[in-house]
Amino acid sequence: MKLIDAHNRRLNYFRISITDRCNLRCQYCSPRHHTPMLAHEDILRYEEILHLIRISVRLGISKVRITGGEPLTRKGVCEFIRAVNQVEGIRDVSLTTNGVLLKNRVDALIIAGLRRINISLDTLNPEKFKIITGVDAFDQVWEGILKAYQAGISPIKINTVALRHVNENELEDIARLSFTYPFHFRFIEYMPIGITGKGLSDSLYTPEIKQILADRVGRLIPVEHQNSDGPADRFRFEGAVGEVGFISAMSHHFCHTCNRLRLTASGQLRSCLLSDHQQDLKTPLRSGASDEALAAIFLKAASLKGIQHSLAADTPVQVSSRMSSIGG
Ligand code: SAM
Repeated sequence: MKLIDAHNRRLNYFRISITDRCNLRCQYCSPRHHTPMLAHEDILRYEEILHLIRISVRLGISKVRITGGEPLTRKGVCEFIRAVNQVEGIRDVSLTTNGVLLKNRVDALIIAGLRRINISLDTLNPEKFKIITGVDAFDQVWEGILKAYQAGISPIKINTVALRHVNENELEDIARLSFTYPFHFRFIEYMPIGITGKGLSDSLYTPEIKQILADRVGRLIPVEHQNSDGPADRFRFEGAVGEVGFISAMSHHFCHTCNRLRLTASGQLRSCLLSDHQQDLKTPLRSGASDEALAAIFLKAASLKGIQHSLAADTPVQVSSRMSSIGG
């Protein structure tokens, strides 16, 4: 049996949050009020996650992304990535990080087999970085990005959540970096989930961002879409060494091509980022369920995957889960 959902989408991509803890408090991601973190024993152990990955591979998963919370805050993450890379049938392992702890981990990550990385960065201004994230760490992140670049990690994707009145006036500067660095600068539409104090009116949608960039930076030349691209629409400017991309989950959702399942740090399996529905894997896993029984839970999650999310619908569904607990 393979993970093929009721809408004939083949699920081969598993995004795994290894911790709900983060060393930043991004205003659009973390809740405004302190919410309790998972107790240590409620977070899946690495061996447990590896067990689930092996089961998922038999069901057709071949690609894994490690996320969080901030994955680099969890002890042993590089050894874990190495172990994921060694799972037979896994062809691609990637990491999403805020970059704060990256600089000193780059070498270990490369030894672990990591070849590509996504780094979140919403501003080039250290003061604004502090306002958005609550932490004065812009320089650390930038040094981490440069270290990853010098060490040959490629591609490096820089993810920027575009927010009105927050980094709206910087999008062109971020895009211009594609003339200097061969990175993929990706602008992500803000998704209003969790209780963050931000709402739909804070979103900047792709058509508007594209217009800003076309007016102020240059013509956006489409780059041919590869199967491995995921949901980003890719472009480059004439003469640039890098690219820009747009992830338009709100204005032009890409649910019809969604090939993802997600595992939260507490062992809940989710078939849609923007829905609160989840299947509990941790309880059966810890009570000794057979691999077949665990595989059946994966198949059930796939069968329940909705045709598309409803966040931008006329009567939007509220999603209470925090992005920081699901992993983005
Ligand atoms: N800590 C890591 C990081 O910062 O990349 C991984 C987890 S973070 C939740 C993953 C991604 O989700 C980040 O790029 C972040 O900017 C993005 N994100 C968080 N909340 C979001 C939201 N409400 N809408 C769109 N993207 C969001």
